[in-house]
Amino acid sequence: MQLGAHVSAAGGVEQAPPRGREIGCDCIQLFTRNQRTWNAKAVTETEVDAFRRARRDSGITTVMSHGSYLVNPAAPEADKRDRSLANMVDELGRCHRLGIELYNFHPGAHLDSGREAGIARIAQTLDLLCDAHPEATDVTLVLENVAGQGTTLGRTFEELAAIIEQVRQPERFAVCLDTAHAFAAGYALHTEAGWETMLETFERTLGLDRLAAFHVNDSKAPFDSRKDRHALLGRGEIGPDAFIRLVTDPRTRDVPMFLETPAGPEGWALEIAWLRAVAAGDRPPLPQIGEIKSGL
Ligand SMILES: [Zn+2]
Ligand SMILES: [Zn+2]
Repeated sequence: MQLGAHVSAAGGVEQAPPRGREIGCDCIQLFTRNQRTWNAKAVTETEVDAFRRARRDSGITTVMSHGSYLVNPAAPEADKRDRSLANMVDELGRCHRLGIELYNFHPGAHLDSGREAGIARIAQTLDLLCDAHPEATDVTLVLENVAGQGTTLGRTFEELAAIIEQVRQPERFAVCLDTAHAFAAGYALHTEAGWETMLETFERTLGLDRLAAFHVNDSKAPFDSRKDRHALLGRGEIGPDAFIRLVTDPRTRDVPMFLETPAGPEGWALEIAWLRAVAAGDRPPLPQIGEIKSGL
């Protein structure tokens, strides 16, 4: 199995792999540029070399980049969409150069222009993204399911499948399933029956071979609330059973998993240790963690 967390790239992307290793990560997620500004300086060859070396030395298996929070590939206004595309082209280029194999992003919001039109625009933006980097087929483009706040798209697996069906190169795409978002979106993974339904629906709409990663988060927001509020593992509205299923179910246990809980690095080390013990068949008590203000 591959357990990890979203680790900080402060001080340079090459700082992320050893930071992840220090807290017991097999795999890591990071931002390859500031996720809250439009401007970023280009990655240098020195940084590329340093990152690749740090990753090798720390033995990190899978690396996923989380895209900017500013982009909206579904934006109805052409200038906003162009700006989003330019940002994504930059991020995909970074991933390719750094050897990062998974580039995760949120599908976007249709902003009251209609669901169908929004999905069509996402597919068009993603086609342009693929065209801009024909060489980057080593980076899988990963659509993340969302809680479904406002007019955001990608709340349901059907919506994610509709996006992938409309792009010209579907083989370049996969999905990251965020457990907190799925729960808030109305997938009842806190119950055994709901977990089954969720996986069966995923298999029927997208196919489990498209499941590239999990964001492993509990939820402060109630079931089907369409609100995105991450909680410490087992301490939120989802509760521990879903996470026990996640790391023991043969359909999901080998998929790379990234924590985005408000636990912070020391807390993630404890949550990773808890998941590892659970996967091995133990049932230790939930770790005692003081919540931090998450930067995610
Ligand atoms: Zn996300
Ligand atoms: Zn997430």
